[in-house]
Amino acid sequence: MSGLRLRRREFLRVGGGAVASLVAAPAVLRFGGILRAPRLGADPFSLGVASGAPSPEGFVLWTRLAPEPLSPDPAAPGGMTGGDVSVGYEIASDDAFAKIVRRGSATAEAGFAHSVHLEVSGLEPGRPYWYRFGSGDARSAVGCARTAPTPGAKLERLRFGVASCSNYEVGYFSAYRHMAEESPDLVLFLGDYIYEHMDHTHPTVRTHSDGVEAKTLPTYRNRYAQYRTDPDLQRLHAGAPALVTWDDHEVQNDYADRWSETFDDPDEFLKRRAAAYQAFYEHMPLRPSLSRPDGPRMRVYDRFAFGDLAEISVLDGRQYRSREACYAKPKHGGGHQETRASCPELFDPARSMIGAEQEAWLAAGLARSQARWNVIAQDVLMAQLREKQDDGSIAFWTDDWNGYPASRTRLLQHLHDAKVRNPVVLGGDIHSFWANDLKLDFDEPSSPVVASEFVGSSITSYGPPYDKFAAWAADCPHVRFFDSRQRGYLWIEVAPDQMTAHCRIVSDARNPHAALGTLASFAVANGRAGVQRAG
Ligand code: FE
Ligand code: CA
Repeated sequence: MSGLRLRRREFLRVGGGAVASLVAAPAVLRFGGILRAPRLGADPFSLGVASGAPSPEGFVLWTRLAPEPLSPDPAAPGGMTGGDVSVGYEIASDDAFAKIVRRGSATAEAGFAHSVHLEVSGLEPGRPYWYRFGSGDARSAVGCARTAPTPGAKLERLRFGVASCSNYEVGYFSAYRHMAEESPDLVLFLGDYIYEHMDHTHPTVRTHSDGVEAKTLPTYRNRYAQYRTDPDLQRLHAGAPALVTWDDHEVQNDYADRWSETFDDPDEFLKRRAAAYQAFYEHMPLRPSLSRPDGPRMRVYDRFAFGDLAEISVLDGRQYRSREACYAKPKHGGGHQETRASCPELFDPARSMIGAEQEAWLAAGLARSQARWNVIAQDVLMAQLREKQDDGSIAFWTDDWNGYPASRTRLLQHLHDAKVRNPVVLGGDIHSFWANDLKLDFDEPSSPVVASEFVGSSITSYGPPYDKFAAWAADCPHVRFFDSRQRGYLWIEVAPDQMTAHCRIVSDARNPHAALGTLASFAVANGRAGVQRAG
């Protein structure tokens, strides 16, 4: 293990002209260690800390050493060069670190932009722990993580936020700050955590420092680093463990498996996907034992249990999906509208949103689950949306579950046949709030409601045109609520007899000090699928 090394020019730059001392000796790996490390020139913990993947006996702790977070030098990501670095950590049962339960060193892997993914086990279930990292004299922010309750143990309450679509350029992260202030047990990030492109469509309030569309490992890394310098997002990650999946913009708009929106050669596109997936891994509190990337492949779908109250299946809706229906039509590489007549392929039962293997994994997990509530957390809208055209025909959007109707029917049929208890689907992507009844057959009025769905607007990203979508939604009796005019997130409260979803909104996503409000609230009663207005 080498010491924490910074590039020489960083040392010459920092400190208002003062020349910081050079790190030549190995850094101290323990807090209060006997050895004293030389002073660092800049904060190596500039991207904050995070926790994730809570289990009854532990979680993953994350940080990344980045003394120069937006370094444009591809050879020095985050301003770091050299090999792996050991980073000290402490875990305490109190926020003052009076009772330290674990202390040790973790590896910041040079091959993964000096990120740390520490899988901690052997802790007590169902309680908070506080943690921090250190290297030399530098200390990270303090984070609070939480172990999950023992499986099957009685749990009366679980509260979590659901976030999606946080475009850095078009807004500030007030929604993230307000979510942090609600002290969630857990935060679900359901995709479009970053946007790979530069926004040329909407008014921007801040810009990506590199001014390019991310396509390579260094540029994807810089995108995550830019987002993670945001204090509101840092605070949210420090406050609660995260469950994460991705949508399209972590790689490219509307991609599906190896099929690019821009008709790139699939083998070439897989190289871009590999870079994007690696950067995602490097910045997320994912379990290395599950998610360490393997070329263009990386497993993010996973399942988490919270006592007897809830099980959350986190899906991957991009990596394994079939190519968009009628992909090869001119300019139709990504999402577009198709009708039953224009695109029979849309209804091909061989097509899948999540791939056969993940479908089987999901079905088996749901059938086995003993939990009161079974949450399916994924990236896009699941309910049927009939998009009526001027000629009266009904079109479907090919990029969300409307583009994979046979796959959707297989899942809903399974929820029904296996008598899965209280299934609730959560999603993002569409930059609008939705509360939907998920029916076995959306075209048949007498068909039973088998699950409930909530979609959580966007942290900052602009919503689709309200009037047009509201008219389409009105044509769908199973859509109980729709609004695309507000930015925000879902705040979910789970109790044994009821799950409540609040549509939290910010007053103005362009204002870093935006106020919080609630647009609407919905409840799902135990034993009865479907949403009811609750405020
Ligand atoms: Fe989005
Ligand atoms: Ca999306």
